[in-house]
Amino acid sequence: MEVSYIKLVEIAKKNSFAVGAFNFHNLEVLQGIIAAAEELSSPVIVQTTPPFINDAGFKPVIFAAREIVSRCSVPAALHLDHGNSFELVQKCLVNGFTSVMIDGSKMSFEKNIELTKKVVEISKAVREDIAVEAELGSIGGVEDQIIDGGSGKIIIPEEAVKFVEQTGIDALAPAIGTAHGIYKSEPIIRFDVAAELNKLIKIPMVVHGGSGLDVETFHKLIQLGFSKINVGTELKIAWYKALENSFKNGKTDPLLASAEARKAVKEIVIDKIKIFGSVGKARDFINIKD
Ligand SMILES: [Zn+2]
Repeated sequence: MEVSYIKLVEIAKKNSFAVGAFNFHNLEVLQGIIAAAEELSSPVIVQTTPPFINDAGFKPVIFAAREIVSRCSVPAALHLDHGNSFELVQKCLVNGFTSVMIDGSKMSFEKNIELTKKVVEISKAVREDIAVEAELGSIGGVEDQIIDGGSGKIIIPEEAVKFVEQTGIDALAPAIGTAHGIYKSEPIIRFDVAAELNKLIKIPMVVHGGSGLDVETFHKLIQLGFSKINVGTELKIAWYKALENSFKNGKTDPLLASAEARKAVKEIVIDKIKIFGSVGKARDFINIKD
């Protein structure tokens, strides 16, 4: 069942767990994510980025994803990750998204505020409970051809307060040392900055670059007010390894190979959902009317 992003992350924040937000690039990855959430009775966010939407076409991606999300047995939301233009955001909003991320993190602080504020205004005009997520500072690394500020730039908590107040966003993705893609060395997570943000900011926060972080880091971040955790790269790795294995073992039929990929993705998502503490939390949403 489709539940709005904001309900998912607010309930998660109140109950000290996080909702996993998993990136998909094709049908079997999306199905693997949903199958894991259903097996563990966990709420889930599925999200995708502009490069995939551009590659496969807006309608094929969004219509298939909405159909799968609305049919699933657990509370789920479809989210635009790293929205890169006002136009794409508008298109998502009129096609039933309950949340979008607008990424103005490569712009100046003032320009980021200006763009984000505009997206918040248009979103709330479409529907009151549409959530807007935005990034501040710059989260490093590369994923889906999204180069996010090179090596990254840690958020300044005072700027974050101003940013949240002036834009009216619902969730903040702060740069605290996590990075997109694969960590080439041990990431230095600024828990001190996260703690400061948790004191200053009341809205839920989002971890970008969840692939490869350890259990302890996740748990600390959840305690510090991070209620949505993005995982993309680990699913891609699981997908291609499963396909590689299938082909090696002579399973070249697309249906057989896809089934293996779906299973591999599901296993990763199950592992993450357990770490994020959202097992069985689907029941917390039963009485919520969206
Ligand atoms: Zn991201």
